[in-house]
Amino acid sequence: MKILITGGAGYVGSVTTHLLCNDNHEVIVFDNLEKGYEKAIDKRAKLIKGDLRNLKDISLAVSLENPDAIIHFAAYIEVGESMKNPELFTENNVGGTVNLIKALKKSKCKKVIFSSTCAVYGTPDTIPMNENLPHNPISVYAENKSKCESLFQDASKTYNFECVFLRYFNACGATLKYGEAHKPETHLIPLVLQVALNQREKILIYGNKYETKDGTCIRDYIHIEDLAQAHILSLKEGISGAFNLGNGTGFSVLEVIEVCKKVTNRHIPFEIVEPRDGDAKILIADSSKAYDQLGWRPKYPDLESIISSAWNWHKNNPNGYD
Ligand code: UDP
Repeated sequence: MKILITGGAGYVGSVTTHLLCNDNHEVIVFDNLEKGYEKAIDKRAKLIKGDLRNLKDISLAVSLENPDAIIHFAAYIEVGESMKNPELFTENNVGGTVNLIKALKKSKCKKVIFSSTCAVYGTPDTIPMNENLPHNPISVYAENKSKCESLFQDASKTYNFECVFLRYFNACGATLKYGEAHKPETHLIPLVLQVALNQREKILIYGNKYETKDGTCIRDYIHIEDLAQAHILSLKEGISGAFNLGNGTGFSVLEVIEVCKKVTNRHIPFEIVEPRDGDAKILIADSSKAYDQLGWRPKYPDLESIISSAWNWHKNNPNGYD
């Protein structure tokens, strides 16, 4: 298939691009390289440098390439930042998606796969979480993702394409070549590994008074290669709708730090600080729909192998892609 990937120079986008190239698909990456890295794009893919906020850029790319499918990753992702600059986030994440829909409606594209998030559910009481939970976003970032899902849903009926919403839990880990290098980094595992590499003095734990086994928040950590694989499975004709993607097991922040200690064999100092605004106590996926309908089977169900893959990448790339 000919597949256009927005944000293909980013964390999950780069791995998806790589796997699609391995499967001999023709891949076109559309990325403005503001947050992504050219080095993270598989050499077999074609790069079109453009910005989704510019309708001309994306219209030209879609009309020139006329892809069979579009995988839409490009977005600002930092939750805290979304609360400080809501208009910038909405302009990029929602405005960019509106432009993408305007561009694709004249193309032969019959499938859109959208990179969504479990954050659309907010802080649910029901654990594990399935796709029937209502949307209850508590950040501008999550609100943007929820809005994009409904824009795609409406457009898919009007313009006759299938759309798939992949709601990621906590994306982490690395392949041999591609890893996590956000600017700025806010995610737990890469931050802890920076402590192990002596690039950071200590890890700050956001609260230890939650009603959990050790008082710290619990998350479901899922390897990026497994996430990438779910996009590939979603390309199949007949697949549409929302899918939660996680391993179905929760780990507390303290447990993550323990596993990082074991994997790195380094001392990892931490300090308990105030809880972070908007953090849910526990987020664990029920991914049985992805198992049943996509045939999705995560290759990295255990946290130790996920963290080992990340550690391997960070040791070999201590400055990320720079
Ligand atoms: N966390 C933490 N210290 C940090 C970064 C994250 O204690 O420096 C916690 C955060 O409160 C959450 C978990 O680690 O409970 C995972 O956070 P991350 O930002 O990686 O992903 P999120 O769950 O927010 O998408």
